Amino acid sequence: MPTQVPTSLPTQEPTVAPDESIDQVSSVEIDDCGDIPDIDQRSMCEFGLSMGLTVKDMIAMAESMGMDPEEMMAIAESMGMEGMMSMAGLVDMDEDHDMDEDHDMDEDHDMDEDHDMDEDHDMDEDHDMDEDHDMDEEEHLDSNTMSPAPSPREPTRLGISFDAEISSAEVQSWVELAVGEMKDPATDFLGLIWPIGSPIDDEPDPQLFDGAMFSEHKHVLSPAKVDEAVAYFVNWQTSLEGCSDAERRDFSDGARVVGLWIRGAADVATAPGPCVKSRAAIYARTLEHDKTTATEIFFHEAYHGLSNYLLNSCATNAPGRSEDDLNNRRWFAEGTADYFGVYMAAKIEGRENYRQKILKRAYLDLQGDPGMGLDSAYVQAAAVVLMLDRGMISEEKLLNGSYFHNCSWIDEFDPQAAGIDYIFDNFNKIRLLDGEYSYSSDVISD
Ligand SMILES: [Zn+2]
Repeated sequence: MPTQVPTSLPTQEPTVAPDESIDQVSSVEIDDCGDIPDIDQRSMCEFGLSMGLTVKDMIAMAESMGMDPEEMMAIAESMGMEGMMSMAGLVDMDEDHDMDEDHDMDEDHDMDEDHDMDEDHDMDEDHDMDEDHDMDEEEHLDSNTMSPAPSPREPTRLGISFDAEISSAEVQSWVELAVGEMKDPATDFLGLIWPIGSPIDDEPDPQLFDGAMFSEHKHVLSPAKVDEAVAYFVNWQTSLEGCSDAERRDFSDGARVVGLWIRGAADVATAPGPCVKSRAAIYARTLEHDKTTATEIFFHEAYHGLSNYLLNSCATNAPGRSEDDLNNRRWFAEGTADYFGVYMAAKIEGRENYRQKILKRAYLDLQGDPGMGLDSAYVQAAAVVLMLDRGMISEEKLLNGSYFHNCSWIDEFDPQAAGIDYIFDNFNKIRLLDGEYSYSSDVISD
């Protein structure tokens, strides 16, 4: 079992000049729960919504248990999150268990867990995402309710947003879309987005953020909403069922660090991985990030989480190497994550120009700094395009995350490895011809 740190090393994401400014962002109310005056009951209601329950579901749950909704909320509160999900499971069992769905899923899932590279897995994923999409919500609930036994268990997919510009339902759909691309996604995945305001100053504030080079921003959320966002992550982590004791021991530190980031309005975008099987993408959207940029950043982080990108575990498994020794391999992890982010945003928006966008961003960066090395995400993603052009990597393997299923990528994409040295020497040779960005055929075939 690879050693885990509670959260992956935070990576500062590139900021992009805004296409349009967002004049005002106010704190978000999640659907109909905003009418509930008691804050604990309201957040429990919001949690239920984020779990895929509707307010109607929750009222139905209450009625099926012979109580009025307020009473149910009070009990849910006292039961905590897991108890509430169990209640959801009871209703689910009543209404949906004639579908024979869960049995099949259990078996498939078992195989996935035991045979990571199993070819059937692709079919499972397609089946899951395409034909059974409208069953997903029930599956999520089941996944949290079927056990006391920790395994086998259904995957959980959660998305929540505290950002008025991006709904929780949208983040939930992003989580499912990201998972749907992956050949071997984590069993549990959480997407969490919240908004932050303008930066306090131009300097990073590592002293506030446990050494991470994030910058403190003004808060957009109310103090209560900040608390709620922190609590959401902490509760999610606490509820995880597939974690080792060693992983659980790091939960409190992971919760502390994420709390620092959210409470300090850090411009964080990262992929916390409290457990090997349970990972997250968390992202504070700044005022400079328009919707497309936010989508790209979210999917960038989701890729890190879902593709099992764990540089530290590869370092642990490589005798004599420390994680720092492997920092010069980050270019490949970052380039592929950024490629995925731009690809997914284009896919969602019905565009096919993602490679053009990747090359254009790098081209413009290189215009500003022609001597720059292969050490920022824009040029790293362009280098990935060059490798694709040269047939060195496959887009399918990139998009489904399987380059990161084991640690061989550490050697394969070592800057000194055969063929990779060429990429480092030529990634900057992007040209602009008749409005098209490209590497010349000389660069591609040389
Ligand atoms: Zn990254």
